[in-house]
Amino acid sequence: MPATKFICPNGNKIKISECLKTCPNSQRCMFLPTLRAVANSLDRKLTEPTVTELIAGTRETYLKKISNYAVDPSSVLYALQGQAIHSINEKNTQGEILSEERLKDDITSGQFDLFGKILDSDDGVLGDLKVTSSFKIMKALGIYKEKVDTGEVYKSGLKKGLPKFKSELRYDGVKEVLDWAIQLNYYRMLLEQQGFKVSKMFIQAICRDSNLRIAQERGIDKNVYIIPINKISDCWLKKYFSHKAKILKNALQTKTLPPVCKIRERWENKKCTDYCAARENCPYAQKITQFTKTQEQKGLEPDDYRKTA
Ligand code: SF4
Ligand code: SF4
Repeated sequence: MPATKFICPNGNKIKISECLKTCPNSQRCMFLPTLRAVANSLDRKLTEPTVTELIAGTRETYLKKISNYAVDPSSVLYALQGQAIHSINEKNTQGEILSEERLKDDITSGQFDLFGKILDSDDGVLGDLKVTSSFKIMKALGIYKEKVDTGEVYKSGLKKGLPKFKSELRYDGVKEVLDWAIQLNYYRMLLEQQGFKVSKMFIQAICRDSNLRIAQERGIDKNVYIIPINKISDCWLKKYFSHKAKILKNALQTKTLPPVCKIRERWENKKCTDYCAARENCPYAQKITQFTKTQEQKGLEPDDYRKTA
């Protein structure tokens, strides 16, 4: 089922159709055409699970399919920016680059962004467009922070006598691109099933907060990054997607809530408390939100308890 309600800035919920007719508040929270665009972007017609739905946690996809849910329209604006970038690219392919085609096999379907001569003279390059945060790009590039002893000690205060540390960036970490790699590789497989030869895969990641100091501190100093994606075997992809499609189908047929999403899928619980569109219908999200509130009342920082919740 689709998102049927908007969450207003004051926390009230309203049917999307009613909001678009008239806003009960003194002023709309954003321009009417923007709200219409948000509503259109939420109005998904596909019933069969897509590549991106199968990559997400099965519980999340299940809940979004069986229950009506409410979304804060402002939380969809980044996705809308992403769609605008897709549409700009699509309008500039000049008939020599394939774009935004939905392909299907007997497991799922997926819509790739760009395929053709998009980077150099090679006409077999598959590209995916992302508008994302400096945090996600930092992880994707394998950048991380390491605490380094400065050789100095605190001269006063509670930490008097203790060594001082500073954070330094390192660039040799694990490149955390698994979700992107799984998604792009499935599109590659779908294209190859249609007889196309895919020679290389890349993500074009546009950083949405590149002008902020936090991005610089994360080592992200450019607006756009081209990130290569390695090949994943077709055999692994088919097993992974068949397995997830089977669990989802079974849950839908028996109307059984699937197990809690895996820790990677739920972003170490951050998604459950703040971002998952299915969280209002998910018992785990309610439990974790209550737990978070209690820990905050005790004055603990999120990093102290989030992973253990
Ligand atoms: S315009 Fe914004 S504040 Fe008004 S009803 Fe819609 S979501 Fe709520
Ligand atoms: S709230 Fe968390 S556990 Fe529940 S569906 Fe969303 S991501 Fe999964």
